[in-house]
Amino acid sequence: MPETVFRTQGLTKVYTTGAVQVHALAGVDLDLYAGELAVLLGASGSGKSTLLNILGGLDHATAGRVWFRETELTTLGDRALTRYRRDHVGFVFQFYNLVASLSARENVQLVTDVAPNPMPAAEALERVGLGHRLNHYPAEMSGGEQQRVAIARAIAKRPEVLLCDEPTGALDSKTGVQVLEVLKQINDEFGTTTVVITHNAGIRKMAHRVVRFADGRIAGVEVNETRIAPHEIAW
Ligand code: ADP
Ligand code: MG
Repeated sequence: MPETVFRTQGLTKVYTTGAVQVHALAGVDLDLYAGELAVLLGASGSGKSTLLNILGGLDHATAGRVWFRETELTTLGDRALTRYRRDHVGFVFQFYNLVASLSARENVQLVTDVAPNPMPAAEALERVGLGHRLNHYPAEMSGGEQQRVAIARAIAKRPEVLLCDEPTGALDSKTGVQVLEVLKQINDEFGTTTVVITHNAGIRKMAHRVVRFADGRIAGVEVNETRIAPHEIAW
């Protein structure tokens, strides 16, 4: 049996805006396993980002429970959640959130300077194929390269889990494939438990498991008996 890294039980998130309530998560029971690459697939508004943000300790649930290994995240206060995020979680978002005035290497160093056991920034950038771009600034790089800097920043602290919210959402198919190749390589080499949110159904085929989301609920979970490489994905 694979180890469970995340477990959610009846996870519920209700956003209240004025008189309107949105049930972004309507009771999600999900296990995510050590070392897997899971794709979370679902239409816009189905609750994918809400789930990822709660798993990553960026947001609180309204009801239900979440564990990261033995730690119940739903009992932690903000300070403990911040420490959990810093020590265990790498995030990759659709928009890369790089600091424009810092080089690629300096953007990664923002994280490695405060992490307990980081890899050197240059090594992280080599891992994502940007060893030759260490001193380039975000404005001097393509969207795909900027996203790879963001991935280098996320992996440089050697996180146990990598949470990626629409990492190829702003990219064309060619650069999107390069980003997915990097995510797959990190999952293969480091065994980093990786969750990739997408609404692009083609990406499901590179996953070990696909979790389909609809209306704040899990609509189905599938195991891919055979996976395809990112460059084989029909975009
Ligand atoms: P997805 O990532 O699948 O597109 P989200 O998790 O972002 O879905 O959103 C799920 C639902 O919750 C949507 O109806 C969205 O409009 C709503 N929602 C998300 N964030 C907020 C928020 N901060 N305030 C109010 N409603 C929100
Ligand atoms: Mg989203």
